[in-house]
Amino acid sequence: MNLDNLKIILANEPKFRFKQAYKAIFVDLISDWNDNTTLPLTLRESLNSECQLKIKAKISGSKNTDTVKALICLDDLSVIETVLLKHRDGRATVCVSSQVGCPMRCSFCATGKLGYKRNLEVTEIVEQVLFWQRYLNNDTGKRPVRVTNVVFMGMGEPFLNYNNVMESIRTLNNKERFNIGARHISVSTCGLVPQINKFTKEKMQVNLAISLHAPNDKLRSELMPVNTKYSLDELMSAIRNYVDEKSRQVMFEYLMIDGVNDSEYHAKQLAKLINRPLYMVNLIRYNPTGKFRSSTPVAIKKFMNILMRAGVRVTQRQTFGTDINAACGQLVGEKNN
Ligand code: SAH
Repeated sequence: MNLDNLKIILANEPKFRFKQAYKAIFVDLISDWNDNTTLPLTLRESLNSECQLKIKAKISGSKNTDTVKALICLDDLSVIETVLLKHRDGRATVCVSSQVGCPMRCSFCATGKLGYKRNLEVTEIVEQVLFWQRYLNNDTGKRPVRVTNVVFMGMGEPFLNYNNVMESIRTLNNKERFNIGARHISVSTCGLVPQINKFTKEKMQVNLAISLHAPNDKLRSELMPVNTKYSLDELMSAIRNYVDEKSRQVMFEYLMIDGVNDSEYHAKQLAKLINRPLYMVNLIRYNPTGKFRSSTPVAIKKFMNILMRAGVRVTQRQTFGTDINAACGQLVGEKNN
């Protein structure tokens, strides 16, 4: 798909053509301009050649079918992954990638092992949501029918592609396009402090999630090289500032890795860090990608209890999609699975 030429092709057309074109793409969900009848034939022809709407993708379903993964092949033949999570209450969450690969080199994450290729364009981010919206539209008779939530938790570090991520959020949010409320959109970062500060100044009420994964500098630097650049102190102070400015909740993601960050000692340290009413911890079962193992259910329960007794709000993420390697940190864009 390529929407970058849309502005060029419609440049000499009356303004309302944009409205019609966006409605055709985002509301009528056409994948061929000829399926639209409001635009003149000659315009449709040039749009079909310069601004094609086909999305090259391969779907792999999960056994429980609540989670579906797709590999999308971009124009330069890079492959990215995106995941659809269908919830029983009728919501549908799309997990989008923001980069091809990732340069952050977190030791537990499969995407990091791929290395980094490039940032995604705005269209390439939007295309992932469009792909699933078309998919839901054709999935007749079954709920949910609309993408209601978007999380930037696929491949890549969204804050290294800050401008494109923010611009894609504006498209998702736009009433005449996807109309997904900002409060239903979440951006997850490994902890890039300058970008968190920039995000604090944004007008949009988008949710912020922080991949914390360790409660002290020594361990965090071992697991996440970004911590050697921005220490926990700097990170927590940027987050305090965000919460003071926005009065919005922040979700701290914490992977439970067996024997690494899941002891009673770590739980107590974490409880001290998570010391504000708007902070909450989301414990994530580690999806093995090689080096580490997931904590035992007993260890997770014990860890959770320590946090709760210390007054920390804590939830445990349902693990969707482990059977199709679609879970967090397993997104590696393999072409042949
Ligand atoms: N780079 C951003 C966005 C990626 S979000 C960030 O770090 O937040 C993907 C989430 O899945 C992050 O919290 C990441 O740390 C986590 N993750 C990475 N590897 C994982 C694994 N093997 N199992 C479960 N979660 C993992």
